[in-house]
Amino acid sequence: MEIRNSDFSTLPHEFSRSSHRSNTSYLVDQSADKSAYKKDKACAVCNTNFSILGLTQKHHCNFCYRGVCWKCSLQQAYHPDMHEMTRICDQCYNKSIQTKISKEFESSLGDVKNEIKELKEKLQSEQRTSRSEKIVKTQIKGELTKIVEKNKETENELSKKIEESEKANEEIENENQKLNEEIDEILKNEENIDGELKSIQSQIEEGLQDLKNYQLKIEEIKNLNSKEINNNQKKNSAIKKAEKIQEKLDGEKLQREKEETDKNQRIERSKKEIDEVKRMNTRLIHKIQELQENEDTEEEIRKSLETPNRLSERLSITPRMGDPYKLLRDQLKSQIEEISKLQLEIKNSKNESTFTLNKESMRDPFERDQCKCVLQ
Ligand SMILES: [Zn+2]
Ligand SMILES: [Zn+2]
Repeated sequence: MEIRNSDFSTLPHEFSRSSHRSNTSYLVDQSADKSAYKKDKACAVCNTNFSILGLTQKHHCNFCYRGVCWKCSLQQAYHPDMHEMTRICDQCYNKSIQTKISKEFESSLGDVKNEIKELKEKLQSEQRTSRSEKIVKTQIKGELTKIVEKNKETENELSKKIEESEKANEEIENENQKLNEEIDEILKNEENIDGELKSIQSQIEEGLQDLKNYQLKIEEIKNLNSKEINNNQKKNSAIKKAEKIQEKLDGEKLQREKEETDKNQRIERSKKEIDEVKRMNTRLIHKIQELQENEDTEEEIRKSLETPNRLSERLSITPRMGDPYKLLRDQLKSQIEEISKLQLEIKNSKNESTFTLNKESMRDPFERDQCKCVLQ
C-alpha cells in the first residue's frame, strides 16, 4: 500500500524532525551507490521523466541516493553522518514512518499482549481460585447440609431427651423427697448410733484400762510365779530337810515312848507302894488311936511292933525302950512326908510327860519343820 504525502500532512513538523533526528540511521543504505541518482532519468518515486528543459528538476535523496522530483522530496530528516536536516524522498520517509509506527505498534502490541497475558494469568488464577473456591464452597455446602441434617436429627433427639430428662427429673425429685425423708431417719439413727459409739468407746477405754491393769497383774503374777518357783525349790529342799528331821524325831519319839512306858511302869510301881504305905498308915493310925484310948496296952503294942513287918523292915524301925509313942509319931511323920514327896514327884512327872506329848502330837510335822527351816 502506498502512502502519499497528503496522508502525512497531518503529522506535525517537529515530530518529523525530532523523531528523525534520533532514529534515522537505519534509513541510510550503506551498501547503496552514492552516485546512483546520476543514472536515473525519471523520478524513482512517481516515475516522471526529468525534462531536458528543466520543468521537472532532478534532486536526490540523501538516504537512498536515488533521483527524485521536488514533489516527491518535500520532507526533511536528520542525517546521522551529515549531522543536519537533509532532503528525504517520500519512499524513505514513508518507510521511516512505517517502521516508527510498526515499532510503536509492536511496542504497544507487546504491552497489550503482556497486559492480555497478565489478564489471562489473572483470569486463570481467578478461575482456579474460583474453581477451588467453588469446590470448597460445594464441599462446605455439602458439609453444611450434612451438619444441618445432623443438627435437625440432634434437635429431635435433644427434644426427645429433654422430654425424657424432664420425666426423669420428676422421678428424681420424687426419689429425692423419699431420700430426704430416709436421710432424716438415718440422721436420727446416726445420733443414736453416735451415743452408742460414745458409750462403746468409753467401754473400750475402760476395757483398755482393765487390760493394762491385767497386764500389770500378769507381770506381778509372773514375778510371783518366779518367786513361787524359787520358794518351791526352797520348799523341796526344806521338805527333804524336814523328812530327815522327821526321821530323827521319829527316833526321838520312839525313845520318848520307851522312856514314857518305863516312867509309867515306875509310876505304877510307886502307886502300888504308896497304896501299901497308905494301908499301912491307916492301920498304924488305927493302932495309935487304939493305943491313945487305952494307954495301958504297952505290951500289946510292943508285941505288935516286935512282929515281923514289911513296913518295919523298910523303915528300919527298931524297937526301943521308953517313950514308944514319940518314936512311932516321928516314924509316922517321916513316912507321911515321904509319901507326900513321892506323890508330888509322880504328879510332876505325869504333867511333864503329857504336856510334852500333847504338844508334839498336836503339831503338824511339816509346819514344825518349816518353822525350823525358816529359823535355820
Ligand atoms: Zn517524483
Ligand atoms: Zn529516497
